[in-house]
Amino acid sequence: MSTPAAAPGPAGDVVARATRLSKVYGSGDTRVVALDQVSAEFRRGEFTAIMGPSGSGKSTFLHCLAGLDSLTDGSAQIDGVELGTLKDRQLTRLRRDRVGFIFQAFNLLPTLTAIENITLPLAIAGRKPDQAWLDRIVATVGLADRLGHRPAELSGGQQQRVASARALASRPAIIFGDEPTGNLDSRAGAEILSFLRDSVRDLEQTIVMVTHDPVAASYADRVLFLADGRIVDELAQPTADVVLDRMKRFDARTRTN
Ligand code: ADP
Repeated sequence: MSTPAAAPGPAGDVVARATRLSKVYGSGDTRVVALDQVSAEFRRGEFTAIMGPSGSGKSTFLHCLAGLDSLTDGSAQIDGVELGTLKDRQLTRLRRDRVGFIFQAFNLLPTLTAIENITLPLAIAGRKPDQAWLDRIVATVGLADRLGHRPAELSGGQQQRVASARALASRPAIIFGDEPTGNLDSRAGAEILSFLRDSVRDLEQTIVMVTHDPVAASYADRVLFLADGRIVDELAQPTADVVLDRMKRFDARTRTN
């Protein structure tokens, strides 16, 4: 199966969908229902934050939706492709061609320059970089004068910008972020979040980001709240104050359980 670079469709198209997605770890006494029939849609040009108490299933949800972990039941689709029907190699190719990842750790190769790190996944895939697109990304992340630097010569914030540019370079249908600002001070974190926001607005990128930080969540278009493996609430156009307030409510509820 070939999965060419997705030509971006119109904003508002569903690019990822979970339908009654369940994930169970272990069995018998050690059985844990990490996700319990979770359904959600993620649209092109939409920035979603996933929040919830520790152990609520955020990482599991991200991993199942991104094809990094198998499902126990239900379905996960990216660009209309049912992940459960793919063989390992097809799944690897789909992730490479249609999915971008930004993790807490920057995962840059120390011997490569910034621009080499950004274009490495394309090189591995045997794809020629789209120079106009690369120029746009580099301008958006504000790295134009740092492209020849190696990671050790860059600040943490700059390294995460390189990692973000790398995620965008292949024009993925969707980018998944797992606490992408978790290792950064608040100023560098704000830079990354602004850049992600810009890529949603200007490049119609779709982003799903797990975070525990109400300020980070306030950059998103909406917040999905998970508790005990279920989506228990959704907030549109979140502000940090409203998110914080909502989190306190869940914490209170969790404590009384
Ligand atoms: P969060 O990201 O919200 O902290 P996780 O998705 O990491 O939550 O975990 C959800 C639940 O699944 C937790 O109860 C956790 O202990 C359990 N879990 C996660 N990964 C595994 C695993 N590999 N094996 C067994 N249990 C797991």
